[in-house]
Amino acid sequence: MTATFVGMPVFPTAARAALADTQLRRNLAHATSTIRAKRLSVVSEVEEWEDLRLAGAAIKDQALLDLDQHLLRLEERLTANGAIVHWARDAAEACAIVAQVARDHEVDEVVKVKSMATAEIELNERLAEHGIAAWETDLAELIVQLGDDLPSHILVPAIHRNRAEIREIFLTRMAGAGKAAPADLTDDPPELAAAARQHLREKFLRAKVGISGANFAVADTGTLVVVESEGNGRMCLTLPEVLVSVVGIEKVLPTWTDLEVFLQTLPRSSTGERMNPYTSTWSGVTPGDGPQEVHVVLLDNGRTRALADEVGRQALRCIRCSACLNVCPVYERTGGHAYGSVYPGPIGAILNPLLRGPGSGDQVDSLPYASTLCGACFEACPVRIDIPTVLVDLRAQVVDAHRGGVPSAQSVAMKGAAWTFGSGARLRAATRASGLLGDVVRRFGRRSLPGGRSALGRLPGPGAAWSGARDMPTPPSESFRAWWRRTAGGTSETSGARDPEGGPGTPRPNPGTPTTTGDRSPDQSADPSGRPAAGPLDRGVGGGAL
Ligand code: SF4
Repeated sequence: MTATFVGMPVFPTAARAALADTQLRRNLAHATSTIRAKRLSVVSEVEEWEDLRLAGAAIKDQALLDLDQHLLRLEERLTANGAIVHWARDAAEACAIVAQVARDHEVDEVVKVKSMATAEIELNERLAEHGIAAWETDLAELIVQLGDDLPSHILVPAIHRNRAEIREIFLTRMAGAGKAAPADLTDDPPELAAAARQHLREKFLRAKVGISGANFAVADTGTLVVVESEGNGRMCLTLPEVLVSVVGIEKVLPTWTDLEVFLQTLPRSSTGERMNPYTSTWSGVTPGDGPQEVHVVLLDNGRTRALADEVGRQALRCIRCSACLNVCPVYERTGGHAYGSVYPGPIGAILNPLLRGPGSGDQVDSLPYASTLCGACFEACPVRIDIPTVLVDLRAQVVDAHRGGVPSAQSVAMKGAAWTFGSGARLRAATRASGLLGDVVRRFGRRSLPGGRSALGRLPGPGAAWSGARDMPTPPSESFRAWWRRTAGGTSETSGARDPEGGPGTPRPNPGTPTTTGDRSPDQSADPSGRPAAGPLDRGVGGGAL
């Protein structure tokens, strides 16, 4: 069985360990840059891509707006088609339902097609408690499972492994789980894939119960849809006698025609393909063809909680394409494990807190901060989830959730800043003080930033957490307001003028501020009007008249 995310440290701690792993960073950089390039190429072929994004967002929003009605319609249609529909409020209920189905059929093993919903509820681990082995059949999931590892990517769970590592896992672990890998196995991809195929085929043909998720659930036809690249999903969905599909309630689409948008945007955004090699649909039981007993578990597990969040509910539009992961600079450097969840990257940073609730734990609360807010995720998302806006809103919710009790150093600092900025006199006093501090620090400071500006070193006490990860320039000797008054808005650079705000009488050279006469180069001297003559940048390109 795979390892578990339970007990993972907060994001900054986990990220620090990941950043130190150079092999991991090399593997990730190679994989994400390859997928990024493929995606960009196929997306740029579609002229109406932006219209497809808008359509996808609108369909999902509409589906979420009337979710209750669509779910009831889906249940009605599935039941009419011979499936048995179950409702699960949380992970425990969903796992208990699946375990019961397996027990009813007296099996001690099941085969699974990759499913984020079943990973989210840790179904494999719960089934193991009942003595039932769940075998992953997706190639990447198989690698993760055999390696007793954790998934680190939505689409490519073993993205953090390279070919040599995969060969090693197959050679050392496959025999213990079933058919062994050939002893002369190399790290050539076709050979690795062939070894996995031989290993899995035995399991497919033996398994009585298959377990799946679904990418979409169409309400008006009662149809579940799985799109995939390898074909193992289709084997899982068609070969066993019994099929159990665990489906998040947000996967509902109102009509069959809604699929047309997502079957264009999902493959391009995820694998950089124009269409999925395998698209499987099933609507219940067909006598003599495929599974003769079909169960569908409709899973909430925090989704209605996310739906109630006005800003965050857009996260439920997610079609799990992973495009946001592949463009995220934070994900590319830390990998997926640092997020401590089956949902990593930008979508994981919002989906986990939305499903579990801000304030539910330090690890969850650290996730909305695991972002630079650069916005690349929003640009890439095929359903236009505004992840940066949701992140900012969740940060506010995390702060709100921790109000009361002993105030943190950060909240004390913020309260102090609010008090200072609340009054002009206090702000002026603080600016003067920071100028004096800047003078002192400059004398002792030993670090300098690109461009020559000096910087503070590591601060003591609670400030260490801030300064340990950031450059902190020393405060300028003279504030902008003081400079403005002294120089009449930059029109007069009089040496020795008194700081009208009561600051030091002799103006100090200030990096980035025009200096007083005496240290100017000839072409920077003031013109007769008192204005500084044009500098190189002001002269314009080619001596133009501007
Ligand atoms: S948030 Fe958007 S880009 Fe990220 S996985 Fe979901 S659908 Fe794809």
